[in-house]
Amino acid sequence: MHPVPAPEQPGELIARLRAASRTGRPRSLEWRTEQLTRLRSLLQEHTDALAEALFADLHKSRSEAHAAEIGFTVREIDHLLENLEEWLRPQPAAVPGCPAGSTAYVQYDPLGVVLVIAPWNYPVQLLLVPVAGALAAGNTVVAKPSEVAPACSALLARLIPQYLSRDAVAVVEGGVAETTALLAQRFDHIFYTGNGTVGRIVMRAAAEHLTPVTLELGGKSPVFVDRGTNLADTATRLARAKFANAGQTCVAPDYVLTDPDTARGLVAEIARSVRRMFGSEPELARGYGRIVNLHHFDRVVRLLGSGRIVLGGRHDRENRYIAPTVLADVAAESPVMREEIFGPVLPIVEVPGVDQAISFINDRDKPLAVYGFTAREEVPRRLAEETTSGGLVLGMPMAQVLDPGLPFGGVGESGTGSYRGAHSLAAFSHLKPVLDVPMRPTGPVG
Ligand code: NAD
Repeated sequence: MHPVPAPEQPGELIARLRAASRTGRPRSLEWRTEQLTRLRSLLQEHTDALAEALFADLHKSRSEAHAAEIGFTVREIDHLLENLEEWLRPQPAAVPGCPAGSTAYVQYDPLGVVLVIAPWNYPVQLLLVPVAGALAAGNTVVAKPSEVAPACSALLARLIPQYLSRDAVAVVEGGVAETTALLAQRFDHIFYTGNGTVGRIVMRAAAEHLTPVTLELGGKSPVFVDRGTNLADTATRLARAKFANAGQTCVAPDYVLTDPDTARGLVAEIARSVRRMFGSEPELARGYGRIVNLHHFDRVVRLLGSGRIVLGGRHDRENRYIAPTVLADVAAESPVMREEIFGPVLPIVEVPGVDQAISFINDRDKPLAVYGFTAREEVPRRLAEETTSGGLVLGMPMAQVLDPGLPFGGVGESGTGSYRGAHSLAAFSHLKPVLDVPMRPTGPVG
């Protein structure tokens, strides 16, 4: 009988990945392309198993599993593969301030070993899109899936070593203890997605080693609905974004700011949209999600008391089901307005108009997104110039994640740094100038 090998300790694992990184192989375009291609094959060859794991963890429908997780990540990888060669070309730089005859270019240098820590709400996408970005930038990676989505974590831990070289990516499963042990090690970059409390723990641990971090956090993303917008279309797009994944999306609209007249019409239209999307009994709809665990279920149910329930409100602890819910008459200081909701509850806070909506937003933490629906020309400009957020989207909440060309990230309490496409390459590289000064300058030496 062969003895079972002892599990690799974090220190050994990182030493192995660092040694692989030092061979210089991950720097080559061929290595990067090969890893990305294999990662894409994993997603394409195990779509069914991944969709089943997503259903087991979060009751995600097949179409949502494809749109927001599996197909989403494949599209990101395709975008990286299509553009990587061009992005990696050294950029010649003019250096008129240097001695005559000097030449310079700027190149992306891999950082080394990257730690990616993922959350549970999009457990495939939010692990693999950063991993793809780190590989595209020529790094080796330790990937830590969330223990709160155990089916996805176990599946990815089994599949990744079958597709990617063990010198490219190592998966470490586990919760607080395992992540704490990882964080004690020195990485060359840490990419963390999750809540701000743990974000602070990650940043503190990183500071010990002067390791740069990207923190993709959350917060309360407001939606301003202006007087005079088309409420039927607004409600459809708002409800689609808010109730996808039962509200457990970092960029989900958190609450609505609107005037009292618009609020009344909007509630009626949201009720219509919800019926169209999930029928009159959303608990029977395969496309409607569940709250990930009882801790979060109890937390969200407690928030239902913060206003008058004008839609939904039904909940069932055994099935971790909370109906798509709208709360009216919500006070600015009520519990539902004090924390990120991260569930299918949409409070409406009444404000007289755009001036007060802007002040309301600016009185609070900088959100991951600000959303606006307006038919007036000056309002988009005012929201863009007078508020600060990870992103601003007019007309379709959550559309900012659809295109890998846009940087995605927060600001202040909602995070630091950004990624996706070329922005991932920048996040996981060092931008290095390479300057060559001739020994016999042809002009005056500065
Ligand atoms: P989570 O509980 O899965 O935690 C995230 C990761 O942190 C996990 O891998 C977990 O193991 C690790 N972790 C937890 N406690 C830790 C500790 N004490 N020390 C070290 N590591 C620890 O996910 P979550 O935080 O509940 O995720 C939800 C939050 O994430 C929300 O605030 C949401 O807005 C935010 N989020 C942000 C984005 C984004 O892209 N900006 C995306 C998704 C979620």
